[in-house]
Amino acid sequence: MKFFCLFLTIFLAACGSSDRTFITLGTGSQTGVYYPVGGAIKQVVEQATDGDLRVSVATSGGSVQNINDVLSGAIAFGIAQADRQYQAYHGLSTWDGEPRENLRFVFSLHPEVVTLIASEASGIRTLGDLRGKRVNIGSPGSGQRGNALDIFSAIDIDPAADIQAESLTVAECAGMLQDGRIDAYFYTVGHPNGSIAEATTGRQRVRFIPVTGMEALIEESPFYTLTEVPVDLYPRALQDGPVPSIGMLTTVVTRAETDEDLVHRVVTAILNDLDTLRQQHPALQGLTLEGMIQGQHAPFHPGALRAFTEAGVDL
Ligand code: GLU
Repeated sequence: MKFFCLFLTIFLAACGSSDRTFITLGTGSQTGVYYPVGGAIKQVVEQATDGDLRVSVATSGGSVQNINDVLSGAIAFGIAQADRQYQAYHGLSTWDGEPRENLRFVFSLHPEVVTLIASEASGIRTLGDLRGKRVNIGSPGSGQRGNALDIFSAIDIDPAADIQAESLTVAECAGMLQDGRIDAYFYTVGHPNGSIAEATTGRQRVRFIPVTGMEALIEESPFYTLTEVPVDLYPRALQDGPVPSIGMLTTVVTRAETDEDLVHRVVTAILNDLDTLRQQHPALQGLTLEGMIQGQHAPFHPGALRAFTEAGVDL
């Protein structure tokens, strides 16, 4: 009897875990767009696979942490800005001189805008006004930190000498701006999002600072484009119209070692149900099959390539 029970227990345990595969997707702060978009991906993938693929959506410091975690094998997939994907693969910026050649592109998602937001009390109206101010440029794991540094170098501001640069996580920023503990913060993010909504609806009025004079930066970069902060999504901001800035696409990455069939199943589930994905977050509304291969700067993962080819996308 004892043996029979033991056998039964092992048998049931084996049944329970049979075809189920667990994967982790690295996202960002709960107040950003990566996190809810990660939730949307989870929903679509789990539904398409009847729960055989289970997606765990992990909060994180952002693009840089996600890329590093993907490369170490700690997570299977990560969401990352296209610029960070490019830099990691080519060994630039954070990965200076150490190209991460096993990074792989899976698909692109929504566009992100380098968003610079300042309190009214700070008196900041232009990029030049940041001199001498307390500005959050982003934590080392974030995507925005590199964008803030690119912008400073384009306008000859030395962040170490000319501003009081902070390295806070974005989750803290809206509250600190409202409390007057920082004057401004950079956040590269899709719109609308919780952080900017929180920053714009507090007692302290806030304004978006135009990121202009970036023509040379855009000219020499394969990932930046001119774009705008859609200010009308934040009715209590001090401006009405859109504010110019630069931006890039959001992408999903993995590493070369990730199982081809697994990547194929995930991407096929997404491509087959783009409608559901688009409905999950306003930032995803403009998603198209063709747009989802735009932010590719590392080689395609073969599983993703197969899924796009089967979906009839011209590669
Ligand atoms: N772009 C940000 C980063 O890479 C994250 C934005 C978001 O969470 O939506 O750190």
